Amino acid sequence: MSDYLKSMPDREGFFGNYGGAMLPPPLEPHFAEIRAAYDKLSKSAEYWNELRYIRKHFQGRPTPISYLKNLSERAGGAQIYAKREDLNHMGAHKLNHCMAEGLLAKFMGKTKLIAETGAGQHGVALATAAAYFGMDCEIHMGEVDMAKEAPNVTRMKLLGAQVVPVGEGAKTLKEAVDSAFGSYIAQADHALFGIGSVVGPHPFPMMVRDFQKVVGMEAREQFMEMTGELPDMVAACVGGGSNAMGLFAGFIDDEGVALYGVEPMGTSSKLGDHAATLTYGVDGAIHGFATKVLLDDNGEPAPVNTVASGLDYPGVGPEHAHLQSTGRVTYTSADDKEALNAFYELSRREGIIPALESAHALAFAMREAKNHQGKSILINLSGRGDKDIDYVAETYGFGE
Ligand SMILES: *Cc1c(COP(=O)(O)O)cnc(C)c1O
Repeated sequence: MSDYLKSMPDREGFFGNYGGAMLPPPLEPHFAEIRAAYDKLSKSAEYWNELRYIRKHFQGRPTPISYLKNLSERAGGAQIYAKREDLNHMGAHKLNHCMAEGLLAKFMGKTKLIAETGAGQHGVALATAAAYFGMDCEIHMGEVDMAKEAPNVTRMKLLGAQVVPVGEGAKTLKEAVDSAFGSYIAQADHALFGIGSVVGPHPFPMMVRDFQKVVGMEAREQFMEMTGELPDMVAACVGGGSNAMGLFAGFIDDEGVALYGVEPMGTSSKLGDHAATLTYGVDGAIHGFATKVLLDDNGEPAPVNTVASGLDYPGVGPEHAHLQSTGRVTYTSADDKEALNAFYELSRREGIIPALESAHALAFAMREAKNHQGKSILINLSGRGDKDIDYVAETYGFGE
């Protein structure tokens, strides 16, 4: 295993100054149980063998790498390649960790998966895992989000999940998190909480990274096979940071490979108009762990905004805050306009409709290609854009 990955996080779940677990007392025994179970299972051949079987025969892994020939020619300069996580079953990288969390629940003897969801993507992926493992599934979702993301509510219901509407406060993600945790505390003897990114209290940032690492491991081998070399630059969009950590994990010990995380700059750099936590955030805590956070004047998590709802989070995975502080990863941004342009370009020039989240990574590659003649850039195409087509076409039209 990689030297870096072995060394991080420490026993308490810290990546340098970031991470840890600040839990309300009722949750402490349950997280201790999850830590102990994962300590054991992460060394169990039976666990990883079953996960490998699921990835191959249910998810459709390995996903390929595609060379984006037409876009590379148009961008002029670097060659652009995409790791095709959009070709996962259900259309995004989220199934990589949701299936692994479901399998963890199975090995722990649990019969139910509980989570919150914002735009619904995590809820759909976890409901898929629950159906596969024959478990119950309870997804908490703000009423405002339910109305906005109706197709995902339908998907979750078809997959057999119970969708719990949350009507408190602003009726969005934050209230859904509180509601889901409350419900989990009452059912933790038979349920597992499924966190949707490399965020939350220890051990989730570590576990979800371990589950997403398959993206980077596959990509490194595939890229070498395709080109005979390692990529010069590797980039991924960062919301909570799971697809980025997964891809970065494959290259983190390769000093010659430059790593880039791309945050959403939304409509402007004014607080409230973006969700660029690592670019503008400060050291703080959110949802039970220490990281960079976007705060308002009262020290509360600030409102965030981006065209890509999956990147809409005022915090970020603690490992990204750490990798920024060491300088191993460079964090930059792309705004709504650049992401939309990349969305149209990839659709029209390559025949791939990307998720608006993934379009941020592509926008970075298209922007940088000109300055890197003869180099190669590998991006993570974290998901497909079917979920975004109606919104984009109705709001912005069909591009030039
Ligand atoms: C949820 C989502 C993201 C953002 O989550 P990360 O944890 O930052 O990877 C990115 N892309 C797609 C397609 C998503 O569904």
